[in-house]
Amino acid sequence: MYRAPVDDIAFTLKHVAGMQEAMDAGQLGDLSDDLVDAILAEAGRFASEEMAPLAPNGEKGTPLKDAEVTTPEGWSELYQNWISGGWNSLTGTPEYGGQGLPTMLSVATNEMWNSSSMAFSLCSLLTMGAVEALSAHASDDLKNLYLEKLISGAWTGTMNLTEPAAGSDLTALKARAERNDDGSYRIFGQKIYITYGEHDFADNIIHLVLARLPDAPTGTKGISLFLVPKFLVNGDGTLGARNDLFCNGVEHKLGIHGSPTCTMIYGDGKFGETPGAIGWVIGEENRGLACMFTMMNNARLNVGIQGVAVAEAAYQQALDYAQERTQGRAPGWQGEGMSPIIEHPDIQRDLLTMKALIQASRSIAYSCAHAIDMADSAAERGEADVARHWRERANLLTPVAKAFSTDIGVQAASIGVQVHGGMGFIEETGAARLLRDARIAPIYEGTNGIQAIDLVTRKLAQSGGEHITGYIDELKDIAARVARKNSPEFGLTADRLNSALSDLTESTGWLLQALQDGRMAEALAGATPYQRLFGLAAGAAYLAKGALVETGDDSARIALCRFCAENMLAETAALRDAVMHGSTSLLGARAALK
Ligand SMILES: Cc1cc2nc3c(=O)[nH]c(=O)nc-3n(C[C@H](O)[C@H](O)[C@H](O)COP(=O)(O)OP(=O)(O)OC[C@H]3O[C@@H](n4cnc5c(N)ncnc54)[C@H](O)[C@@H]3O)c2cc1C
Repeated sequence: MYRAPVDDIAFTLKHVAGMQEAMDAGQLGDLSDDLVDAILAEAGRFASEEMAPLAPNGEKGTPLKDAEVTTPEGWSELYQNWISGGWNSLTGTPEYGGQGLPTMLSVATNEMWNSSSMAFSLCSLLTMGAVEALSAHASDDLKNLYLEKLISGAWTGTMNLTEPAAGSDLTALKARAERNDDGSYRIFGQKIYITYGEHDFADNIIHLVLARLPDAPTGTKGISLFLVPKFLVNGDGTLGARNDLFCNGVEHKLGIHGSPTCTMIYGDGKFGETPGAIGWVIGEENRGLACMFTMMNNARLNVGIQGVAVAEAAYQQALDYAQERTQGRAPGWQGEGMSPIIEHPDIQRDLLTMKALIQASRSIAYSCAHAIDMADSAAERGEADVARHWRERANLLTPVAKAFSTDIGVQAASIGVQVHGGMGFIEETGAARLLRDARIAPIYEGTNGIQAIDLVTRKLAQSGGEHITGYIDELKDIAARVARKNSPEFGLTADRLNSALSDLTESTGWLLQALQDGRMAEALAGATPYQRLFGLAAGAAYLAKGALVETGDDSARIALCRFCAENMLAETAALRDAVMHGSTSLLGARAALK
């Protein structure tokens, strides 16, 4: 059973991602060490003791009857307990009842919820995204009516982008909106794959829906974002009539069976006298995509955290099994009979690989959250240049946090199955569930292929390429500190890290040049290997940063960092070659695809 790794999480937040320094500099308001420790400890208790035991109930799915979805046994009560603990409102603005805490804390607690149950925690992930989008773009009237309930979790939020012909590319979106005389709109159309589009956790569900107005320009410049509640809300906040929308299907899928993935129908006249689901525009007409991106950036980081979370759960389960299961005799085994499989070097490699990937991706994701907090805090102080620097850092790290972490989520969950041998393939151990759950995260919130394209074509070019160069220099400083320490415990860490960072530098330069020359297909051909290279090199540097912190109990962190550098970083040279020398053969092999 999952045990929240509160110490690892606190250490990474404070000493790797930069929370301690930010607290000491007074950049995180009144946040103190004690408060952080208390929040993490209580979240860890809730996640381990109350949430994780109910996760297997999700496997029975979420039946749909008469447009109502029933969530798994115990989950609705769990949700009430979870929001009563204030967990939904951590980062919400105090103006609407939120606790105003930094993103770093919400990301760290999200990790624990998602390790316990990804399927359960998805609901709040989307609500938090809706809160962000409304806070940034909605009118005061909409904020006054909806934000408090969404921040507390009394109502939940959804994100309605996808349609049968509009997935990664939203230009083909068909849902339409018509203006009413009173400033509201009527929404018509079908949305698919809507997470928690219908459920029994809350009295109301607030859908954020992308649709086109009749006179909208074609393409993405003609998309507007609408707030469309399941129940209309009266001026005093009480619930009114049922709005003209409903769920008419729940998908059968590979994993996250407890999370209802809904087909939503808007405006077909099932409810109300005049067909059309009533909604209100968020931000300006035709500027909906920009508003939705606020929501998606938040969601992308938190989906990245799902990768870290599921990998952590898989690691713990594999570690427990490897300590119990005896098979064969490992070299040097002095005990009676067969040795526990953890004594075999190959199983140690499996477990160490999982642990290193978790710590690397956790560090990247928390560093991304740190950048968001630093940007907000600098903006509040009116320091525009500092805010811009941190905004660029968050922009750079978001696709990596999303894609690298969710890829390693699948990788680690798969290794976890392997460590179990045949038992990994049998449902009762739960290892298979983690692998099935992990598989969605590289797909939704923008596939990992789309993240790689975003990283290469938009994020590298920030500030004319200076931001990425400065970031790599910061990572090189860590390698230089390891070299200066000159400690035998670190083995070849400094050398290996320097090589990996050179691979990253060369690949980055090559991609920037390809983009400048207009060799777009060549740049795109290398995008996915580049993303992995970025994640491995940056993640290993963060492992080294943690290993350099002297706490008196550093040997495990140093050993993991050295293992990663000497065993896993060899991959970066191969990835660099794929980026810089792989495009000709890739683009030339189209004829082989038949
Ligand atoms: C369980 C689940 C929950 C979901 N929840 C939600 C939700 O709550 N709200 C919502 O709106 N949507 C949701 N989605 C939809 C999800 O975000 C989309 O499935 C995803 O964006 C991919 O779109 P698609 O399925 O149409 O795939 P496609 O866009 O058809 O992509 C297929 C493949 O082609 C690649 N590809 C596509 N375009 C390009 C390109 N330009 N360049 C290179 N490669 C490309 C993709 O990377 C992918 O590998 C959910 C989906 C699932 C399965």
